[in-house]
Amino acid sequence: MKKKKGKTLTTGFGMPVDNDLDSLTAGPHGPILMQDMHLMEKLAHFDRERIPERVVHAKGAGAHGYFEVTGDVTKYTRARFLSEVGKRTEVFARFSTVGGEKGSADSERDPRGFAIKFYTEDGNYDMVGNNTPVFFIRDPLKFPDFIHTQKRHPGTNLKDANMFWDFLSLTPESIHQVTILFSDRGTPRTFRHMNGYSSHTYMWYNAKGQYYWVKLHFKTEQGIENFSGPEADHMRGVDPDCATRDLHEAIARGDFPSWRLEVQIMTPEQAREYRFDPFDITKVWPHADVPPIEVGRMVLNRNPDNYFAEVEQAAFSPGNFVPGVGPSPDKLLQGRLFSYHDTHRHRLGPNYHLLPVNAPKASKMDSYQRDGAMRFDDNGGGGPNYWPNSYNAAAPDPTTAPPAVDVSGMAARHQYASGDIDFVQAGALYRDVMTDTDREHLIDNVVGHLKNACEPLQLRQSALFWKADPEYGRRVAQGLGLNVKEVEDLAAMNQEGRVAATPIQ
Ligand code: NDP
Repeated sequence: MKKKKGKTLTTGFGMPVDNDLDSLTAGPHGPILMQDMHLMEKLAHFDRERIPERVVHAKGAGAHGYFEVTGDVTKYTRARFLSEVGKRTEVFARFSTVGGEKGSADSERDPRGFAIKFYTEDGNYDMVGNNTPVFFIRDPLKFPDFIHTQKRHPGTNLKDANMFWDFLSLTPESIHQVTILFSDRGTPRTFRHMNGYSSHTYMWYNAKGQYYWVKLHFKTEQGIENFSGPEADHMRGVDPDCATRDLHEAIARGDFPSWRLEVQIMTPEQAREYRFDPFDITKVWPHADVPPIEVGRMVLNRNPDNYFAEVEQAAFSPGNFVPGVGPSPDKLLQGRLFSYHDTHRHRLGPNYHLLPVNAPKASKMDSYQRDGAMRFDDNGGGGPNYWPNSYNAAAPDPTTAPPAVDVSGMAARHQYASGDIDFVQAGALYRDVMTDTDREHLIDNVVGHLKNACEPLQLRQSALFWKADPEYGRRVAQGLGLNVKEVEDLAAMNQEGRVAATPIQ
């Protein structure tokens, strides 16, 4: 038989395949012969196509683009990608929901992940944030428990309002994030129409070794657009992939989404004297105290060619810093510094940093790490695999060291300051920032979800809303048909902010 013109199909090992339609059988009716190695290899590879999905942020979409500096921040940071107005750095961004599985709907009520990889000349810098400036918890020891409550019940395999509200109502510091989550910002219309926040505080340091604490805000240039609760519910059925589709289609038609990067900057002296702990991730820095300054602009202008290679295999870590950027003492961040690389090693293997989307593009990797599963470059060849060595090989550069930071104190399981202070910003958001319509939707959204939990939890959580703002608590209690006086008494009972845990059946 003559070969058709054009490319030849091969096996994974490059051998030509003679037939990709008919298995090799003993006679026309089979059985199939084990010596059909093409069939065996094809099935065996297919059996292994799925990798573990991310424990959180499993459903996501991504795109390539660039970041351009628009404001001079060289007095605050020596980061080379921020060194000059007009300078451009290639980026890859991934947006996601948090609690749902890979096939879950894009319009679910959930924070949205907002992760950016900057391919800088000093290596890759990752900003791994969310579309909300705060978080539910502030100690990493609570993180696995919190995520369990957002996922499925261990017995029924169903989402469970009791475990959701049980944990949150026993975690009063969550009230600020819960208020944002149940506002319409908890259901962004698309990934393009939402802001991204570093949420954590980070360190910037300049060429003189002076350091500052910073929070990053990526403000959407498309404008904020959200679904109302009923619109989001409707969209789950109409198009579960609506945000993924929107991002892809917008870029494909040349309507490139963009975000303006603004940064809030605090000096170490300001931080020491600040009226609350500036590293507590359940709190924002009010703009009136720390006005944001403009730094740059991110534009996404290229869709991935292959979802698995570029989006599923993308691995971000808040621990990927470049000289000029570093961590802060924020406890939740400290836990994430460990956890992200760890989960990627489990999901993608120890050499995941060599995958094209994760590898540096504007700098060269030169380390003494060797071997491990799926090491697919030259593995350092015959060069030394240890340091120090006498071969004029890669050496540490002490000029890139971050500044020394003064740390002292007793080693103990310390808590962040808690109590009434945890309710102030949720109350300010409800009273001073939200419109009447925002408040109406917030109450409807909370009631629509909390009504599925048992009454003791409804009471306990309503008391927390009351502590943020009495009107907020009253409206939720009324919407749930609770005894309003009982909620008020519960809120008044414990000024420390921790409403007692009543056992539930
Ligand atoms: P400002 O009035 O200076 O800022 C209010 C901020 O709230 C704006 O950044 C705005 O973001 C954002 N916002 C508007 N509507 C909503 C909403 N429905 N849900 C969540 N955020 C919204 O006040 P402060 O800086 O004093 O902050 C007041 C409260 O605003 C905070 O307690 C916090 O809840 C919220 N907030 C504050 C942020 C900060 O970094 N200071 C950031 C985001 C929220 P946009 O410009 O995008 O509309």
